[in-house]
Amino acid sequence: MSKVIVYCEHADGQVRRASLEAIGAAKSAGADVVAILAGEGASAAAATAIGASKAICLTGPAEFSSDAVAATAAEVCKSEGARGFLAAATYRGKDIAPRVAAHLDVTPFTDCIELKADGDSFHVKRPWLAGKALATLGTSGDVLVATTRLNVFNAAEGGAPGETAEHAITAVAKAKVTGVEAKGSSKLDVKEAPVVVSGGRGLQEAEHFGMLEDLAAAFGNAAVGASRAVVDLGWRPHGEQVGQTGKTVSPQLYIAVAISGAIQHLAGMRTSGTIVAINKDADAPIFKVADYGIVGDAFEIVPALTEAIKAAKG
Ligand SMILES: Cc1cc2nc3c(=O)[nH]c(=O)nc-3n(C[C@H](O)[C@H](O)[C@H](O)COP(=O)(O)OP(=O)(O)OC[C@H]3O[C@@H](n4cnc5c(N)ncnc54)[C@H](O)[C@@H]3O)c2cc1C
Repeated sequence: MSKVIVYCEHADGQVRRASLEAIGAAKSAGADVVAILAGEGASAAAATAIGASKAICLTGPAEFSSDAVAATAAEVCKSEGARGFLAAATYRGKDIAPRVAAHLDVTPFTDCIELKADGDSFHVKRPWLAGKALATLGTSGDVLVATTRLNVFNAAEGGAPGETAEHAITAVAKAKVTGVEAKGSSKLDVKEAPVVVSGGRGLQEAEHFGMLEDLAAAFGNAAVGASRAVVDLGWRPHGEQVGQTGKTVSPQLYIAVAISGAIQHLAGMRTSGTIVAINKDADAPIFKVADYGIVGDAFEIVPALTEAIKAAKG
C-alpha cells in the first residue's frame, strides 16, 4: 500500500474538515495516510487526523512559515518513502503544495476532484478549460503532489492515528510570520460551505440579498455567493464572487437565484453536487447545468423555499 502525506490544517484543537476530505481522497485511492501538522496546537489536533495511520507534528520556530513548512514536508515525503502529497485547496494548501512540489522537482496538480491508484503511484483528475474538460494527470517523478477541491471528497472516517511523532523544522524561514489573528467573522466562506445560495443581477438591488441571507440561515450551513455582475455593482463583496475571476466552489448544493449562467460563472460552480436554478427566463443558460430548475419569479420562490426549509427542519 503506497503512502500519501496529507498536510492537515487545524484550528481549536481540531483538524479542519477540508483536510479530512484530503485524507478521505487518499483513502479512496487505497493509500496509507501519514498526516503532518504544523503550528501552535498541532500536537493536540494530531489525534483528530482521522483516517491517518500516523501523525507527524512539525515543530520549531518557523512552524507558521510556508516555505520552511514546505521544505520540511518534502523531507518527510522522502523519509517516509511517500508516493503522494496532498493538501486541501485552501489558501494555506495552495501556498504549501507548489513549494513541496518544487522541493521534490515535480509538477503540482491543483484543485483535483479524483485520486486513483496507478500501480504504486497515483493519478488525479482535474477540470480544465473552465470546467469544460476533465484532465487525467500522472507524475513523472516519485511523488504526486496535488491539492484537493473542497467539498468533493468525503471526509475520512475511522479512528485516531495509531502513532504520533515529531519532526523538527530545520529549514530557515525566508518569510517570518510575526503574528496570526482570527478574522472575528462567524460567516461561512463560499468555498467551504456545504450549501451555497448565490444571487445575480436579477435581484435588482443590494437590499434584496436579505432574502438570500434568510434562505442561507434556514439551511444553517449555507453561505451567500454572488455573480460578478452583482459584485461589480457593489452589492456584495468580491470575497463572495463565484466564477472564473472569483472563487471556485463545489458545495453539495448550489442554488443559483436570478443568475443567467454565463460561462464565466459556470466555471466556478459546475462541479457542485446538486445544482438548483431559479430564473424567470426558461431559456437561461444556467438551466443547462442545473439538476433542478424552477422557472419563475425569485421574489415569490425564494421566500416560499425558505419557509418550506424551516418547516421541514421543524
Ligand atoms: C473575463 C471575464 C471574467 C468574468 N468572471 C466572472 C465571474 O467570475 N463570475 C461571474 O458570475 N461572472 C463573470 N463574468 C461576467 C459574466 O460574463 C456575466 O456577465 C455575469 O455572470 C452575469 O451576471 P448575472 O447572471 O448576475 O446577470 P445577468 O446576466 O444580467 O442575468 C440576470 C438573470 O436574472 C434573471 N432574472 C431577472 N429577474 C428575475 C426574477 N425576478 N426572478 C428570477 N430570475 C430573474 C434573468 O432572466 C437573467 O437570467 C466575467 C466576464 C468576463 C468577460
